[in-house]
Amino acid sequence: MDRIKWDYHTHTVYSHGKGSIEDNVKVAVKKGLTRIAISDHGPGHISYGIKRAKIKEMRKDIESIKHKYPEIEILLGVEANVINRSGALDITDEEWELFDIVMAGYHYGAFGEKPGHDFGIHAKNLVMNSFRTSTPKIKAENTDLMVKAVYENDLLAITHPGAKYDIYIAEVAKACAEKGVWMEINNSHPFLTAQTIAESAEYDVTFVIGSDAHVPHKVGNCERAVERLNESGVDRSRVINLL
Ligand SMILES: [Zn+2]
Ligand SMILES: [Zn+2]
Repeated sequence: MDRIKWDYHTHTVYSHGKGSIEDNVKVAVKKGLTRIAISDHGPGHISYGIKRAKIKEMRKDIESIKHKYPEIEILLGVEANVINRSGALDITDEEWELFDIVMAGYHYGAFGEKPGHDFGIHAKNLVMNSFRTSTPKIKAENTDLMVKAVYENDLLAITHPGAKYDIYIAEVAKACAEKGVWMEINNSHPFLTAQTIAESAEYDVTFVIGSDAHVPHKVGNCERAVERLNESGVDRSRVINLL
């Protein structure tokens, strides 16, 4: 059975997951992971972002349980939202300091401080994605947004590239390769797809598998991601956390 050694992408009740931080850690330990990040949704999302005031509490939670689980490293991460066309994220510099790792993804519904300005791109993606269609214009806009996010921020990884928004994957992969940002093969969303894994692998990118678990028992899961990796024909040594 395929296994990952770390899971950087897990959610808890602090955003819209079902379990506590400790619930996720317990499952991770049981599955033999040596590192887990709690990476709830960035605070800019209108319905399921973490509350800014709670970030410090999350840090405290983690510090208070660390001694119980010496076999695993527990990190505080975040799946920040790219909120506008400049590639800005929904976390402040001050908040950034509280996290061990920062990943970024695209989700509708994270509008930033000037909601009117960037509402259009979210609305277009929501409609396009519902009809499973796209246009070259919106694809180019989305690509630009994510490439800027990669260059403008010190990210560890970008989550589920291509889910919820259509992008020119080669341009995003090129940026990730240049900046040393990992591209996630997400176990809960069908992105990266086998096709986009293969296209991204043309560049010197590192892949990471994330369970994107929203319930504790799914922490560490990787089967569906590995299936797509195998289908892509890309060597598994390109995935940093696959055993
Ligand atoms: Zn996500
Ligand atoms: Zn997620």
